[in-house]
Amino acid sequence: MAYGSSALSDQCSFEPFWWSAAPLEAREAIEELPSSADVAIVGAGITGLVAALHLARGGRKVVVLDAGPPGHGASTRNAGYVGRTLKHGFGELIDAHGLDFARAIYGELMEAFRAVKATVSEEKIECHYRQQGRFLMATSPAMYEAMTREFSLRERHLGEPFSAVSRAEQAREIATRHYFGGVRIDDHAGLHPGLYHRGLLMAARKVGATVIGHASVHRIAGEAGAFQVVTRRGRISARDAIFATNGYGDGAWPWLRRRVMPFDAYQTVSAPLGEARVRDLMPADRTYIDWNFNVDWMRRVPGEPTRIVFGGLTGSRDQDLPIMAERLRLRLFRIFPDLGDLRFDAIWTGKCGGTFDLYPHIGRHDGIHFAVGYCFAGVPMGTLFGIKLARRILGASGGESAFERPLPTMPFYWGNPWFVPAAIRWMGRHDR
Ligand SMILES: Cc1cc2nc3c(=O)[nH]c(=O)nc-3n(C[C@H](O)[C@H](O)[C@H](O)COP(=O)(O)OP(=O)(O)OC[C@H]3O[C@@H](n4cnc5c(N)ncnc54)[C@H](O)[C@@H]3O)c2cc1C
Repeated sequence: MAYGSSALSDQCSFEPFWWSAAPLEAREAIEELPSSADVAIVGAGITGLVAALHLARGGRKVVVLDAGPPGHGASTRNAGYVGRTLKHGFGELIDAHGLDFARAIYGELMEAFRAVKATVSEEKIECHYRQQGRFLMATSPAMYEAMTREFSLRERHLGEPFSAVSRAEQAREIATRHYFGGVRIDDHAGLHPGLYHRGLLMAARKVGATVIGHASVHRIAGEAGAFQVVTRRGRISARDAIFATNGYGDGAWPWLRRRVMPFDAYQTVSAPLGEARVRDLMPADRTYIDWNFNVDWMRRVPGEPTRIVFGGLTGSRDQDLPIMAERLRLRLFRIFPDLGDLRFDAIWTGKCGGTFDLYPHIGRHDGIHFAVGYCFAGVPMGTLFGIKLARRILGASGGESAFERPLPTMPFYWGNPWFVPAAIRWMGRHDR
């Protein structure tokens, strides 16, 4: 089919598609700020809410504050992939740090993966969670070879099975010749990000956590045991404090801002294509993602089998969404040349949080706890780190983490990630 005119449908929205099934709270719902709490949490995304849920269940008086409505950050903007993803390969970690370190890191990725499944089941969150499997695509024959080597290592040392799918066989996973085969991991899962977040919000409130939107935190003064949380709507005294701000961190904690780089990711949802056409494109109904550093990803929309999700161009700083929609549609057209007539009913952007060493981090500095830097995998890692933060404050076992290591910064980096587009271009060249 020929490539058509505009990428946007007439009713195209520039907000996350997920908000139609799980709307953000209206401003009227704003609650009064309490004057004190045992624990104050900055950020009401997955990390902050999971920490609040477990702390409140452990008997702590918890207040979660968000600058916008709870969930307006990446937690309701993502693709809902639940896997065991890290920007450092298992083989790379063995070579650089030895097998024990690699096992500890990847063991925790598995813990995070399981934490989502357990949370969905224990809190009875209806969010289309399903272990539908993931298909990771190679964009060159050399990448296919590298992937099979990497996943063979994981199978041998971690006992995680996979299937190598050659280019000749890949049509049963995805209807394109664009890729050079790939790797299928059967137990990886997908969910609806809006519904997962809403379920966490309801669960945290049900056990007594106070979650307040439109209450931007300006700074936290004092020290552990006697913090003063200064917000645009007043002060709260708190014994403990957590920053769960990931890619949305602002000047409220300059130390953290110097260590987490925000970078934009873009995602679309198509206008309805018809169930049969979607099934033809993605017959195996997996979550699909290529194995580049800067990835393209696609899946059927959970709960709406007539549409597809497509995302990519991470790190581009061109915020003009119609232009980004056009660029994304061209990328999608290269993968599925039959989609020349495709239009988007939604395109939006969200901020991921990257770290200079490309690891997620959990830790404590100046008495304040934090968990950030998920580098695109915060659905499972944010869930796990939320649990671990709560355990640390409750003094319970299980709060330790292989990801607790010094959180690096760069000289002259104060929070403006001007170099991200150049770095992403460099990674693109590396991918090619
Ligand atoms: C397009 C896109 C697709 C993605 N796809 C996936 C995926 O498929 N799977 C996956 O695992 N991960 C994915 N990610 C990453 C994932 O969404 C994030 O890692 C995760 O949501 C981080 O959750 P969080 O709770 O730590 O932070 P966020 O959900 O980003 O929340 C941070 C919150 O902190 C608040 N905040 C910041 N500063 C202040 C302040 N001073 N005062 C008060 N509040 C403040 C913000 O308002 C925000 O609500 C994707 C991200 C994007 C953008």
